[in-house]
Amino acid sequence: MGDCAYIIEKGRVEILYEAEGRLPRTVSSRGPGAMIGEMSLIDNAPRSATIKALEDCHLLEIARADFSRRLDDADPVLKMAMQVILTRYRDMLTRAEIRHDETYKIRAETLEQLYNEHSDVLDSIKIANEFQVAMQNKEIFLHYQPIVNLQTGHIDGFEALMRWNHPERGFISPAVFIPILESNGQIVHASQWALKESLEALKRIEQEAADTEEVFMSVNFSSHDFAAEDFVEGLYKTLSETDIAPSRVHLEITERLLMGQPENARTTLEMCRKAGMHISIDDFGTGYSSLSYLHYFPIDTLKIDRSFVINMAKEKGATELIKSIIGLGKNLGMRTVAEGIETKEEAVMLRDLGCDQAQGYFFARPLPEADVIKFIKTHHKIKF
Ligand code: C2E
Ligand code: CA
Ligand code: CA
Repeated sequence: MGDCAYIIEKGRVEILYEAEGRLPRTVSSRGPGAMIGEMSLIDNAPRSATIKALEDCHLLEIARADFSRRLDDADPVLKMAMQVILTRYRDMLTRAEIRHDETYKIRAETLEQLYNEHSDVLDSIKIANEFQVAMQNKEIFLHYQPIVNLQTGHIDGFEALMRWNHPERGFISPAVFIPILESNGQIVHASQWALKESLEALKRIEQEAADTEEVFMSVNFSSHDFAAEDFVEGLYKTLSETDIAPSRVHLEITERLLMGQPENARTTLEMCRKAGMHISIDDFGTGYSSLSYLHYFPIDTLKIDRSFVINMAKEKGATELIKSIIGLGKNLGMRTVAEGIETKEEAVMLRDLGCDQAQGYFFARPLPEADVIKFIKTHHKIKF
């Protein structure tokens, strides 16, 4: 038995253990469906067990190289759990042979090393576990970043951005916790909550600040949201509960989402569009090189990623790229929004290039609801 394990398709085998100087002893017998030699998949150590066929057998081979490759691709939590289980198993085996205190010391170090190696994974498990409680404890809330009309200076809408103020760790960035929620499916509940919360906030903002009937709320969604069967139903339900016109709801999605599940995304987006909602492509220009998808999906807005804006003042090439995205938007009847505007210079350049809207620290950071109301009252028309 070498670098393989075997699944018994048919027949029975006996596993014999030969300790030095003693007679072989039967430790177990295995039949159809069971695996033999499984330790050789994950452990290089020499073995002293012997397999003896008790009847004619059919065996299915699993090669170690193939197993390692699959394990490399596995979910990080699964991988970490496998390694910890394996280390403990090895520990148990060696402990039977070496003096207890000696072995324990070595293995404890190995485990600690494992924990250190996987600290990111452990952190993500912690975050996932704590998120649920955090929602109940109101540690999760939304900030709203104004989206400004570059041509008129009016506030056209807001993007809802999730915030987590953790009692011990302080603020955790959505760039850290959103991918974790996406990887384990918790995002679906979080997104529905964000939609409801932001539309209720929009209603309150409207009551406090006049002239905001047309202001929209842009909400981020992930591929998990789209994969959920009741996604559209959930949207309709929230729209009717909050009594917000669908045209004031913008769904922000990425190119990656569209490419990952094109047919489902198209059907879902068409339903949303039919209901009157607006569809924006977030981080446009960072995902895929092919543009043919722009015809395939019902898209209203292209949000030009901040990476293009950063280089605009420095590189002529970046300006040319933005120019062509704005041109593309115009030709396809789509609106363009520039993300991450930090300077007046950038705002002026984008306005002159014909970009429709912009958001960024130059106009305002993402704000808590109370500050949004103040901001609207004091910035009726933004001059720059
Ligand atoms: P995003 O959707 O691209 O959101 C824009 C990000 O750029 C926000 O980061 C915002 O605070 C930041 N930003 C805005 N203006 C500027 C600027 O002038 N300069 C710089 N440097 N940054 C600016 P944030 O809030 O940390 O969110 C990070 C990402 O997390 C978001 O990127 C989005 O992908 C995700 N996210 C946040 N909230 C939600 C949510 O409710 N649902 C989902 N699915 N994702 C969310
Ligand atoms: Ca976004
Ligand atoms: Ca973005």
